[in-house]
Amino acid sequence: MSKTDLMRQIRDEVHILKDSPLYEYRTKNKYLPVIGEGSHDAHIMFVGEAPGKNEALTGRPFCGAAGKVLDQLLAHVNIPRESVYITNIVKDRPPENRDPTPREIQSYGPFLDRQIDIIQPQVIAALGRYSMGYIMKKFGLELELEPISRAHGKSYRAQASYGPIEIVVLYHPCVGVYNPHSIPNLKKDMEILIGK
Ligand code: URA
Repeated sequence: MSKTDLMRQIRDEVHILKDSPLYEYRTKNKYLPVIGEGSHDAHIMFVGEAPGKNEALTGRPFCGAAGKVLDQLLAHVNIPRESVYITNIVKDRPPENRDPTPREIQSYGPFLDRQIDIIQPQVIAALGRYSMGYIMKKFGLELELEPISRAHGKSYRAQASYGPIEIVVLYHPCVGVYNPHSIPNLKKDMEILIGK
């Protein structure tokens, strides 16, 4: 099966994920699941938390205010958005943009795991503390976990099923939405991706 077919399979499965704690909320509001977007051969994969309202209305990740910040950060390091793959751990919007629950992460995590195996990125940029926690635990780095206020801008080496991988921890771009003064620091952290 091609990468595109495998991704479509994930999309179709998430569409009918009636066991998900967010399924009813999605259908009641006529929201869409947000699977991910970008190159299926990307070297770098960005993993956010969960879709917001704009994302759930369009089915596209990071297309609202946080997405504008992410676009700014990508432009800062000259990485075209279409050359990377952008997704989230949780594929449906949680109500009121609240933090994802452990059960939601458990429901959707296996889809992210499959996306990682399909794309086989050399670098995963974890956006925010939930993504950092999920990705670092997945790759056996739990002993190195520290608060994101210390981990941001750092990179960790790990082993994926398909070869070596680097995990880069970044603040979630919404930090730049709530505090525009933080954008120079977010840009500085992003520079860790230059040349990767
Ligand atoms: N925040 C996220 O974590 N993901 C999105 O797709 C949008 C906002």
